[in-house]
Amino acid sequence: MPIDATRPYDSDNIFARILRGEIPATRVYEDDWAIAFEDINPQAEIHTLVVPKGEYVSWDDFSAKASDAEIAGFVRAVGTVAREKGLVEPGYRLLANVGAHGGQEVPHLHVHIFGGQPLGRMIA
Ligand code: 5GP
Repeated sequence: MPIDATRPYDSDNIFARILRGEIPATRVYEDDWAIAFEDINPQAEIHTLVVPKGEYVSWDDFSAKASDAEIAGFVRAVGTVAREKGLVEPGYRLLANVGAHGGQEVPHLHVHIFGGQPLGRMIA
């Protein structure tokens, strides 16, 4: 069920629990700013989620409140994960859902990386 992206951060959300190591995930990357792990219900051959370590509900929250260092670190982490997965030459897609119309279900900012196949039009 989509979330209200204007609500306060909930530190019990599923990605906060993955960040704390309380529940398992197939982690593929970690640095000072972000972790990345495979989506539990992949929508493409490659479907990886990149999550900032800071407590931000959505892209809106992050872009308004995160420090320049957090933003730079997170953006670089997304690029690094895609690069490490060999996605630059064939191409890939990034997606960050925000709130109800975006279909955001987990209230901790995450960027989806899709790749490994032609991805078609932007919106089905
Ligand atoms: P959203 O709709 O919020 O942009 O996307 C949430 C994504 O998180 C979905 O693609 C969903 O499959 C994934 N997801 C939800 N719960 C878990 C989980 O416990 N582990 C992993 N690895 N992915 C999850």
